[in-house]
Amino acid sequence: MDFNLFNSLGARQMAIDVGTANTVIYVPGEGIVLSEPSVVALEVVGGIQRVRAVGSDAKILMGKTADNIRTYRPLVDGVINDLDLTEQMIKHFIAKATGGPHLMSRGPEVVIGVPSASTEVERRAIQAAAINAGARDVWLIDEALAAAIGAGLPVEEPVGSMVVDIGGGTTEVAIIALKRPTYSTSERVGGDKMDDAIASYVRMKHNVEIGPVSAERIKKEIGSAKSTPEAMKIVGHVGGRDVTVGNLCEIELSQAEMAEALHDVVQQIVEVVARGLGHAGAEIASDIINRGLVITGGGALLKNMDTVLRDATGLPVHVAEEPLTCVAIGAGRALQDAEYRTELHAPSGAI
Ligand code: ADP
Ligand code: MG
Repeated sequence: MDFNLFNSLGARQMAIDVGTANTVIYVPGEGIVLSEPSVVALEVVGGIQRVRAVGSDAKILMGKTADNIRTYRPLVDGVINDLDLTEQMIKHFIAKATGGPHLMSRGPEVVIGVPSASTEVERRAIQAAAINAGARDVWLIDEALAAAIGAGLPVEEPVGSMVVDIGGGTTEVAIIALKRPTYSTSERVGGDKMDDAIASYVRMKHNVEIGPVSAERIKKEIGSAKSTPEAMKIVGHVGGRDVTVGNLCEIELSQAEMAEALHDVVQQIVEVVARGLGHAGAEIASDIINRGLVITGGGALLKNMDTVLRDATGLPVHVAEEPLTCVAIGAGRALQDAEYRTELHAPSGAI
């Protein structure tokens, strides 16, 4: 097809990973076209509430705005918390990815990754949100399966592949064989709990209150799943408010302190993985012993997360090449493969 004609019609197919922390859109033939925080900022003007900003523009406003602007995360712990806001957010992102609502006359065919543990009500909700946001047709795919495809695991073969997706709200562990998840489990632990743990630690140990955006930033900068001999020397700075005297201050934190703060959350993630391994049948267990497991999601980028899992399980642990975009890429590939389409849930009714 003529490239310009294709463009003028907007993307005809797209894969969307609507995560608790980030939304990522992949268009076959183009690649990742959007990756933004799942955040919406609302503003009240003359008693009427309207969307002020979505995505990165909204995240910048978090915790920094006057009373008439509030920021929200429409998804909590991997599930839709506010349907209307989720819809507005998806609508905005689809329009941005296709180049504007004026090109949406036909609407794209969309595949969306959903957590394996999501209920039928949640699946219907996300599907309805995408339809209302302008999608022509919506298919759903298991997020862990999509992550495994995106990470390049041999999902089509009769061998068990284990994928551990550490997202903002949840950690999902799944075993995939012959294009199907044979086991999956999900726990409400991930990057958000890490941020909370860092904020509580700083408050307890330093008597300083820091916001969630600062906690996340310092986690990405110097966070670690475990302490190492050099961890005392790796330091970062964060600003907050001294809770004893009330004045603003900046404190220094070491990587060793971050490891201490994150210890319990990291152990919870280790337990989910151990639970998954405990459920693998004998044949699949031997596949996993040989091939190890792959970690995806933003939490896979936490320093030493792979080492901790390797030490705890004794298995080879690989970090996916593109942990943050695996699900969208994998869902996009599934969209291209006719065989996967039969694996996807029907677009309406029987999901
Ligand atoms: P979701 O699928 O739930 O939207 P993502 O897979 O996009 O989540 O991962 C987002 C989480 O990963 C956030 O909690 C973010 O802080 C965390 N994250 C991103 N980069 C890093 C990093 N370099 N180190 C530690 N955590 C990170
Ligand atoms: Mg995710």
